Amino acid sequence: MNVQIVARQATCIGSGQCVFTDPDAFDQDDDGLVLVLKQPAAEGEIALARQAVNICPSRSLSILEAS
Ligand code: SF4
Repeated sequence: MNVQIVARQATCIGSGQCVFTDPDAFDQDDDGLVLVLKQPAAEGEIALARQAVNICPSRSLSILEAS
């Protein structure tokens, strides 16, 4: 399965939960807004990315899936 994280800085409120949940995939820029460091490939990485998407309080993260 091909999975892509999509992050919307326009709605990000800089809460940092995504970075706390999955620091290998997410970071914050100098303004505290989300950055995607890498796309998940392994099953464990995809599971962590899903957790980050689900925990984001501003719904700024989503996952695109292509089989
Ligand atoms: S959890 Fe959501 S609101 Fe918080 S920094 Fe990450 S993308 Fe932004």
